[in-house]
Amino acid sequence: MSSSTPPYSPRVAIVTGAAQGIGLDIALQLAKDGIDVAVNDLPDKLSQINEVVRTIRDMGRKAIALPADVTSEEQVEKMVETTALELGSVDIMIANAGIGKPTSFLETTAIDFDSITAVNFRGVFFCYQYAAKQMIREGHGGRIIGASSAAGKEGGLNMSVYSGTKFAIRGITHVAAKELAVHGILVNAYAPGLILTQLFDESTVQGTLEEKLTEIRQVLGLHPNTPAAGPEVVSNLISFLCKPETKFITGQTISVDGGVRFS
Ligand code: NAD
Repeated sequence: MSSSTPPYSPRVAIVTGAAQGIGLDIALQLAKDGIDVAVNDLPDKLSQINEVVRTIRDMGRKAIALPADVTSEEQVEKMVETTALELGSVDIMIANAGIGKPTSFLETTAIDFDSITAVNFRGVFFCYQYAAKQMIREGHGGRIIGASSAAGKEGGLNMSVYSGTKFAIRGITHVAAKELAVHGILVNAYAPGLILTQLFDESTVQGTLEEKLTEIRQVLGLHPNTPAAGPEVVSNLISFLCKPETKFITGQTISVDGGVRFS
């Protein structure tokens, strides 16, 4: 990192996939930390996005709605441009949007492959790249953080494409961290284990949360005692990684999985 880089002093974050789940929790945590937030999710979730924007404004922070599809390079570029124009800068990019659909390796189709890689890999790649270009123009460093997964540390049953994309996030995180260090931009990723989000609400299993969790563990080939937690375990890590004091942490994909994997 160059000693001439002005100090990183975070004011504005973009969070993708922030209408619900982990992204929503991250957006609210960053607002609590005093950061203004640009809230992205798919255009068909505009009412949920607007609700998150209202909540953040009620907390006394600025917020804007950024309905966009991260699989479109043009829309990602526009998202970054709009944030810089309306909120004044882009100091933090949380490339959180991701999708997954449990399917056996042999039954995975080209449509599954393309749709999952488009969001989880291509989407994160261009969020990293356009945020970095804007941060370099602004010249005061930044934080770029992407969503990997425990499945990006060890392939999970029925998650072949998903696991592949989550390993890929670790790869681009390494490269971006190396290339962007000179600009004072730190690049890391998070690798959650079982986090209770809409993933479970949309589960086909009827019944209690514990019954749904049992089913999910079976489908993914996880040990029956694999721990689960709420999204706050991830947003607390993000809150920490966005602080100026973390200036010596880059290129890491940090597990947040209750101790399932020590890597
Ligand atoms: P979620 O499904 O609750 O939320 C993901 C959000 O991303 C949704 O609101 C969705 O509309 C949005 N999204 C999907 N495609 C998009 C696109 N093309 N453009 C913009 N937004 C889009 O999922 P979650 O559980 O909150 O997961 C968040 C991230 O964490 C994902 O990348 C996921 O792979 C990762 N993750 C989750 C878990 C878990 O157990 N929940 C575990 C490991 C990793």
